[in-house]
Amino acid sequence: MTTSGATPTNCFAWRCSCNVLKMGRQLLESLAAALFPPRCALCLRELPTLEIVCSDCASFLPSFEGSRCQRCGAPVDDSSIDLCLRCGTQLLAMDRVFSLGPYQGDWGRLVRSFKFEREMVIGRWLGERMATALLVRNAVREFSAITFVPMTRRDRRKRGFNQAEVLARVIAKRLDLPLIRMLDKTRETSLQSGLSSAERKTNLRDVFRLLPCRQEHVLLVDDIYTTGSTVEECARTLKRGGVQSVVAMTVARA
Ligand SMILES: [Zn+2]
Ligand SMILES: [Zn+2]
Repeated sequence: MTTSGATPTNCFAWRCSCNVLKMGRQLLESLAAALFPPRCALCLRELPTLEIVCSDCASFLPSFEGSRCQRCGAPVDDSSIDLCLRCGTQLLAMDRVFSLGPYQGDWGRLVRSFKFEREMVIGRWLGERMATALLVRNAVREFSAITFVPMTRRDRRKRGFNQAEVLARVIAKRLDLPLIRMLDKTRETSLQSGLSSAERKTNLRDVFRLLPCRQEHVLLVDDIYTTGSTVEECARTLKRGGVQSVVAMTVARA
């Protein structure tokens, strides 16, 4: 009785073709590096290896200053206070929000290059930084799955990709967690930043639809945390569907 469909000859041939492909890819990468030497995405200095951001720029990427809300990361005036006014007075669906750094400055430049100039390598680099930040916080065991803030089909087609999904895919792979599409965006919305608090709620009302899923503790990924309304509406939709905890993570926070 045979237990495997591949004969030893087939295995050998398969390994050989894999090695040839690997060598071919390495050769192409070396050729591309010689013709177009990699440059730092921030200072544009030529880099000796295939990196995205040079070590100097990476070490000077800004972190948050001053006292912060323990739940959403908003600035708080008094260091003895754990929560901002919103988190302290409203019943919110999102349990926590992490961001790598402030949107102003270099984090914002990297997000814009990824999102608007379609620099996918920068997106993957940002996703790796997000995964590392979660590993450093020892937060990985808190999640049973990773999902992302969805775009409408029309918006996704226009851009060619959903930046939140790209980031989430990198994080899921690195942390060995399932990436599950749990939400759908059912209609276009106006930009949240120019709206009042009441208008933001109306703008996002019932805009997300829960897809069938059975997950308890979810990491929700997005590129930027601006007003918090999008993340909150996604978390509310997920919890209405039975998800117990929703922690959001974004590259930057405005
Ligand atoms: Zn640099
Ligand atoms: Zn807060």
